[in-house]
Amino acid sequence: MERAYNFSAGPAVLPEEVLREAADEMMNYHGSGMSVMEISHRSDLFDEIITAAEQDLRDLLSIPDHYKILFIQGGGHVQFSMVPMNLLQGGCGDYILSGHWSKKAYQEALKFGPAHVIADSSDRNFSYVPDVSGLPVHEDADYVYYCMNNTIFGTRFREIPDSCGKPLVSDISSCFLSEPLDVSQFGILWGGVQKNIGPAGLAIAIVREDLIRDIPELPVMMKYSTYADSRSLFNTPPVYNIYICGKVFRWLKNMGGLEAVKQRNEEKAKILYDFLDSSKLFHGTAERESRSLMNVTFVSDSKETDALAVRKAAENNLLNLKGHRSVGGLRASIYNAMPKEGVEKLTAFLREFENDYRR
Ligand SMILES: *Cc1c(COP(=O)(O)O)cnc(C)c1O
Repeated sequence: MERAYNFSAGPAVLPEEVLREAADEMMNYHGSGMSVMEISHRSDLFDEIITAAEQDLRDLLSIPDHYKILFIQGGGHVQFSMVPMNLLQGGCGDYILSGHWSKKAYQEALKFGPAHVIADSSDRNFSYVPDVSGLPVHEDADYVYYCMNNTIFGTRFREIPDSCGKPLVSDISSCFLSEPLDVSQFGILWGGVQKNIGPAGLAIAIVREDLIRDIPELPVMMKYSTYADSRSLFNTPPVYNIYICGKVFRWLKNMGGLEAVKQRNEEKAKILYDFLDSSKLFHGTAERESRSLMNVTFVSDSKETDALAVRKAAENNLLNLKGHRSVGGLRASIYNAMPKEGVEKLTAFLREFENDYRR
């Protein structure tokens, strides 16, 4: 059975090499006679896995020593809660609204204390990212929050917002390790791994040490300090997810690191955007300066044609191209693990579809 080209926004495509390696190791991991799913999280074997994963991630992003890497269960939504629970200290949270996920994070923060919207691009259905120069950051803000890549709307921030010295928090779920990033500009970087790194259910938070406080009244699993103090081994962690993430980190390192990854991603995105810019049938929904490298959103002249294109694409082994309902049309998620060949095949298909359609 041929592998599909999977353009899903998440859970999403994983590198074929990683899946093959995991398959080879499935029944007998490194001579243990057991699968990684069956070994103790307190064993030396797993200690090697999590230690290497952490180190490889640190190397890839050049994470400074005063940042902790935390492996946290519960995916993205748990981080929407953990950020305000751990960072609010009598002040407020300032939020930049650029799409669905930052809005959800903002709404969650309102449960824990005052939160404000300091920039917003909802006026044109989040088809661009708001201007973040001269943000009206509140004097008493405990942090400033934004989502770097908007998975649903196909937009991304190119510049890092000026948070006026307040800790800057960013949700990087859908652009995690897609290009180099200066970690020292941030208080917290976190991402759910199922978009660009590994299996769903795990988030990785990169947290500056001074923001990790023991807050006795918080539930134990909702405190960053619990994960920091136990090397993410307070309770049974999602052992297999961490193992796959570690393999993906190694795969990215072997590719030459994030500069090389970025170059590859830019090449892939250019193929698709160049086609959309020249097409008479399809056009991109995100404003040019805000275009995402990871999620490419586009529409044709009608809902019916969109649906037909999605269906015909699936017949050609190009899967999961239906856009999110809040944008409509099509969305091609072209994460790190999507080969260039997949993007070329998709573009060739769309070109052919357009020609047939116009005849
Ligand atoms: C998918 C996604 C989320 C939500 O992740 P869950 O693990 O489903 O809670 C949050 N933020 C961004 C940017 C996403 O793409």
